[in-house]
Amino acid sequence: MRWTRAFIPTLKEDPADAEVASHRLMVRAGMLRPLARGVYTYLPLCRRVILKVEAIVREELARIGAIELLLPILLPAELWRETGRWDLYGPLMMRLEDRHGREYALGPTHEEIVTDLVRSEVRSYRQLPLSLYQIQTKFRDEIRPRFGVMRGREFTMKDAYSFHADEASVDATYRDFHDAYGRVFERCGLAFRDVEASSGEIGGEENHEFMVLAETGESLVFSCGSCGYAASSGRAEAVPSQHEAGNSAQPLAEVETPGRTTVEEVSELLGRAPAEFVKTLLFQAAGETVAVLVRGDREVEEEKLGRALGVDRVEMTGPARVCEITGAEVGFAGPHGLPPEVRVVADYSLAGRGNLVAGANRTGFHVTGLEIGRDVEPDAWIDAVRLVGGDPCPRCGAPLDGTRGIEVGHIFKLGTKYSEVMGATFLDEEGRQRPFLMGCYGLGITRTVAAAIEQNHDEHGIVWPVAIAPWEVEVIPLNMDSPEVVEVAERIYDDCRAEGLEALLDDRADRAGSKFADADLIGVPWRIVVGDRGLKDGVVEVTSRRARKDAARFSPQEAIAHVRARVLEARGGG
Ligand code: ATP
Ligand code: MG
Repeated sequence: MRWTRAFIPTLKEDPADAEVASHRLMVRAGMLRPLARGVYTYLPLCRRVILKVEAIVREELARIGAIELLLPILLPAELWRETGRWDLYGPLMMRLEDRHGREYALGPTHEEIVTDLVRSEVRSYRQLPLSLYQIQTKFRDEIRPRFGVMRGREFTMKDAYSFHADEASVDATYRDFHDAYGRVFERCGLAFRDVEASSGEIGGEENHEFMVLAETGESLVFSCGSCGYAASSGRAEAVPSQHEAGNSAQPLAEVETPGRTTVEEVSELLGRAPAEFVKTLLFQAAGETVAVLVRGDREVEEEKLGRALGVDRVEMTGPARVCEITGAEVGFAGPHGLPPEVRVVADYSLAGRGNLVAGANRTGFHVTGLEIGRDVEPDAWIDAVRLVGGDPCPRCGAPLDGTRGIEVGHIFKLGTKYSEVMGATFLDEEGRQRPFLMGCYGLGITRTVAAAIEQNHDEHGIVWPVAIAPWEVEVIPLNMDSPEVVEVAERIYDDCRAEGLEALLDDRADRAGSKFADADLIGVPWRIVVGDRGLKDGVVEVTSRRARKDAARFSPQEAIAHVRARVLEARGGG
C-alpha cells in the first residue's frame, strides 16, 4: 500500500476528550473518528488491524470445531420476552419500533436468538455438540461510554454459543474455548490473565474472564502468588474479618458534625479511624430499597452485591430519594432508625466490630457507640466488599496481588438457563425430551485492539505486535526528489511484497522528520529507510519500532531478508 493512496489521516494534536493512551493514539494515528457518543468510524488502518484480530479468532475457533454464522442485528422483542430479558436488560438495550408499532432491540448479545434457531433445527442428541459463532456489531446503550472503542455503544464482538446433551460435553467444549481464547490473546501479543470467576454460589455456573493487564483497565484482578487463585473484583471473595470487639460497649449517642459528609471529614473531626465507621449506602434492587452497611474504609462491589441479593443488577439510589428515605441530606445516612420497609444488609467487614460511628439520618449529625446486633439488626450478613491488594486470599490466606485489567473475553457455562424457559429440547438416546445444556463465549474484537495498544505503545505512538500490525514493514524514502532514492525504495517495496511481506511505502513528498513522526505514530513493526547518504555506500537502514534508535545497515536485499526472518518468527500461529 502506498501512503498517498492509503487514507491515513494522522493528527499532530491529541484529541481533547481522550483519557487513555489507546483512545488518544487511535485518533491520532488515523484509525478512528467519532460520530456520536461511543460510536466510531473505523478508518482503513483500524479496519486492517480488526481484520487481523478476526482472522486469528477464526483460525483458533476453526481449530476447535466452532462454525461461523451470522444472526440478525434487528431482534424482535417477543424472543426477549420469553426469557424475561426484555425487561431485565433495562436501559442498556437499544430499542426501536417499526412502522407497525412492533418492538425490536438492536442486538446486545444473542442467547435468545441462537436458542430459538437451535430449538427449531436440532432434534436429536446425534446432532450434538454444536458450537456456533458470529463476529458482529453489537449495540449497548452504556451508561458511561468512554475510552474510545474500549467501552463503545456500538462495537464488534465475537460471540459463540454451544449446545450439548450432557455435562461432560459442556466441560470439554468449555475447555476448548478456554484454550482457544488463551491462544488468541497470546498470538495477539497480549499479556493477559484468565481469572476464574466461579465462586461456588447458588446458580453461579463456572465462568472465566480474560483480562489484559493494563493500568488503565476498568476491572480489578486479584491473584494469589501462593496458591494460584485469581478472580476479578466482581467475584473475589473476602475472608470474613476476625475483629475482636473487646468490652468497650458504649451507649448510642448523637454528635454534631455540621457540613461533614464523608468518612474522611467526620473521621478527622472526631479523631476516629475510618475502619471504626459504618458506611451506609442505599441501592435499588429489583424495585426494593436496600441499605448496605460496609466498613468505613471500604467500598461496595456492586456485582457481588447483586449476586448476594439474588438480583441481576443493583443501582445506587439517587440523591433525592436518599433524602426522602433518610430524612437527611446525602452524607448523613445511617443504619439506625431507617424506615422499616428498607431492607438492611451488613457486609462481613463489619463483623465483630463495636462502638461504631455512623450517620444519624439527621442532617449535620452522626452517632457514636453504635453496636450492630444491639442498635440495628441486619436482615442478612453478606459479602459485598470490594477487595484491595494485600487482602488475604480466600483459599490460602496469603496476601493477594491487586492489578488492573481490561476484560477482553468472558466465557460461561449456562446450564439450561435459556433452553428450559424457551422450551429448546432434543431427544436423548433413550428417546426422552431434554433441554439443551449450553455455553456462551464472548470476545470483544474492537476492545482487544484498544487493549493491544494500551499494552504496546510509547511516548511516540503505537508499537504493534507483528501478528496484528496493519503492515509488517514500512519503507521510507527520505527524499522524494532524488530519483535514485525513489527507485531503490520502490524496488524494496515491490520485493517485500514479492516475499510475502505486508508493506507500506511512504511515498509522500514530506520532510523526513514528519515521515518518521508518522511512522512512530502508526507503529509498523519494521522500517526500511532509504536515503542518499546510505546509497553512496549501497546500504539502507533497518530499524524495529520497538528499539527505534538502533539502526542496522544492510544492502537492500539483506535488509528485506533480515526483516522477513524477524516477521516470520513473530507472526506465529496459523
Ligand atoms: P463489561 O463488564 O466490560 O461491561 P460485559 O461483561 O458486559 O463487559 P460481556 O457481555 O461478557 O461483557 O461481553 C463479552 C465481551 O464483549 C467483553 O468481554 C468485552 O470484551 C466486549 N464488550 C462488552 N461490552 C463492550 C463495550 N461496551 N465496548 C466494547 N467491547 C465490549
Ligand atoms: Mg463480562
